[in-house]
Amino acid sequence: MNLPSPIQSIFFENKQFYLKRDDLIHADFSGNKARKFHYFLTHSFPHINKVVSYGSAQSNAMYSLSVLAKMKGWVFEYYVDHVADYLQENPHGNYRAALQNGMVLRPAQKTVAELVEGKPDILFIEEGGRQQEAVYGIKILAQEIIAWQRENNIEKLNIFLPSGTGTTALFLQKSLLTLNAQRSTLVYTTPCVGNKAYLKEQFLMLEEDKVFHPTILCLEKKHHFGKLYRENYEIWLKLQQQTGVLFDLLYDPLGWRTLLVYPEVYSKPTLYIHQGGVLGNESMLRRYVRKYPSVMSE
Ligand SMILES: *Cc1c(COP(=O)(O)O)cnc(C)c1O
Repeated sequence: MNLPSPIQSIFFENKQFYLKRDDLIHADFSGNKARKFHYFLTHSFPHINKVVSYGSAQSNAMYSLSVLAKMKGWVFEYYVDHVADYLQENPHGNYRAALQNGMVLRPAQKTVAELVEGKPDILFIEEGGRQQEAVYGIKILAQEIIAWQRENNIEKLNIFLPSGTGTTALFLQKSLLTLNAQRSTLVYTTPCVGNKAYLKEQFLMLEEDKVFHPTILCLEKKHHFGKLYRENYEIWLKLQQQTGVLFDLLYDPLGWRTLLVYPEVYSKPTLYIHQGGVLGNESMLRRYVRKYPSVMSE
């Protein structure tokens, strides 16, 4: 793994940002899923021979688990609700890549956690990698950021990253506060999957003490995860044109749109975390090109 991941300076909409390139950690094992599963990759589990998880058929966590299982020689069983006909007939993106890594698909069950209970040879991973072991890799991310701040004399820093389960943002804020007691590096995030109340609940499930919770920022308009928005497509294209960096299409467009309306955050040195996920772009991009054929050439 390419650690510490590089940090570069970028300009977007005439503003300067630092960008933490966690998308470059590893060709197959990238972004915040590499951080979340770092613990499993670097420890040995002689009694485990199978990893079981559940979630959507296009998830980045699903793909990363298929890579982890392959590296470890484990069977990977994944419980999925629904595989769209189009995806089944034209496998692509995370779905195809995970199947190529040997993923075994199972129809969704309400009780996946119970199914695997008391089976010592099975490693069970919550949807999206929301589990305590994630703290191991995310603490390393915090250490990398603190070392970079020291080298570059950046005392006061704002960090921004978009959230799904909120696991990465929460453990990052907690690690920074624990490693660096003065409250000078704040983590800001926005909920991409649910609303603000949902994200707060997610934080509370992982950490009861609100002192360690990141600050949640939102756009005024409601946003639905996975839905196509012209504004998201446009800012994603703009990001690529202005920074030369390929971002993910599910989380980053909302992340950047939110950050750009909070000058009180970005007027201080701000580090945006690129959390990978670009393999998942394939399916979103197909849908965007079909829906907005004129946008690309405008
Ligand atoms: C999984 C993922 C997220 C969400 O991470 P959480 O820790 O669940 O908040 C954000 N961006 C990308 C690219 C992801 O793959």
